[in-house]
Amino acid sequence: MSLRLSPEVDDAFRRMKDFVVTYLQPLEDELPPFAQKLPPETARRVRQALEDHGLVGLAVPKDLGGHGLGIPGLCAAREALGHTTLWSLSPLLGSEPPILLYRASPEQREAFLLPTLKGQRHGAFALTEPEAGSDAGSLSMEAKPVAGGYLLTGTKVFISFVEESDYALVFARVPEKGVTLFLVDLPSPGLQVARIMETMGGAHLARLEFQEVFVPEERRMGEEGEAFALAQHWFDVDRIALQPPICIGASTRVLSLAASMDLLTEEELGSWTLRLEAARALMYRVARDAEEGRPVRHQAAMVKTFAVELALALLDRLLDLLGPKGYSQKFRIERYRRDIRRFAIAAGTLEIQNHIIARGLLRGYSRPLPGEVN
Ligand SMILES: Cc1cc2nc3c(=O)[nH]c(=O)nc-3n(C[C@H](O)[C@H](O)[C@H](O)COP(=O)(O)OP(=O)(O)OC[C@H]3O[C@@H](n4cnc5c(N)ncnc54)[C@H](O)[C@@H]3O)c2cc1C
Repeated sequence: MSLRLSPEVDDAFRRMKDFVVTYLQPLEDELPPFAQKLPPETARRVRQALEDHGLVGLAVPKDLGGHGLGIPGLCAAREALGHTTLWSLSPLLGSEPPILLYRASPEQREAFLLPTLKGQRHGAFALTEPEAGSDAGSLSMEAKPVAGGYLLTGTKVFISFVEESDYALVFARVPEKGVTLFLVDLPSPGLQVARIMETMGGAHLARLEFQEVFVPEERRMGEEGEAFALAQHWFDVDRIALQPPICIGASTRVLSLAASMDLLTEEELGSWTLRLEAARALMYRVARDAEEGRPVRHQAAMVKTFAVELALALLDRLLDLLGPKGYSQKFRIERYRRDIRRFAIAAGTLEIQNHIIARGLLRGYSRPLPGEVN
């Protein structure tokens, strides 16, 4: 069997990698080192090329207009994307909308999912609050039911892509019912972007203040009280198929750069290659389990932790070996290092991942090996 599980997923990886090499890598030197978006004309050209190459919506289910390659397909597309330092700009191209949107009603599908897939609309994801980060379940933003909808009041912090988005997926608590997901227009009356924070990698993170923001009932996604489970599923997918493949693609690229420069001893090159291959194999195996609907919470945490720690360690090692050159912007390593560092925090810190892994083990969720009784 192919490493990436099926010939279709393998093919998606190869086609996306060709696209990255042809269209995105050449832009790396044209953009400033902290660039957070492509110039509009370039973005339009790249987006058109993505469409022309049939690379939009690889992971999106077929009945929603995608190619139906699922979570393994998302891993493959993003592993290829990891071969450019411009990977972090990719959400703005809209080729893979957040899986939360798959839960959209038929009207929401027309208004949000399909335009997002076409790159015409962009959505931010607003979960974190000042007192609810790692412990997202304790979020306190209120969604008060009123005639025809809800009034949202509270604060969201560290939210990515707010400046570029025209709506946000917002998690808020309906009294007595629980955490619920809403599609909120950006801007909306009563909603203020209170602060934009610049970060190490260059990404801008926003603080959003909601003061009785009216959201019509038809903008509620799914049922009242079911959004925490949706968020958990989103995190599982994020930890398998959004962050790790970028780490793996980026590590593969910089490792071959190091090999071409004779930077590493054979012994060290072999050791990094082994760990990289193990990370890749783990990611695709857990991606398949997730796609088949098996519980993967602690395995997703393993995929994330292993891939992120590996990429950060490799990038640091190469930075050390290259010295001032590695620290410079010439070798791509410093930009990868700045950007990938965010994965150790966003969508669950590495400390939290280790808790999840340990809890999985203690509760007996560990996946049995062939022939082993769990
Ligand atoms: C680049 C970037 C982009 C982001 N984008 C978004 C976004 O688009 N939308 C969004 O909603 N959020 C976003 N976030 C927020 C991110 O998800 C949170 O920062 C993250 O979940 C951690 O929450 P916190 O910052 O409140 O840290 P805290 O939960 O306060 O944690 C602080 C420290 O304490 C540790 N800690 C906390 N609890 C425990 C525990 N029980 N055991 C051991 N250690 C613990 C943590 O590991 C961490 O080291 C983004 C963050 C970053 C850095």
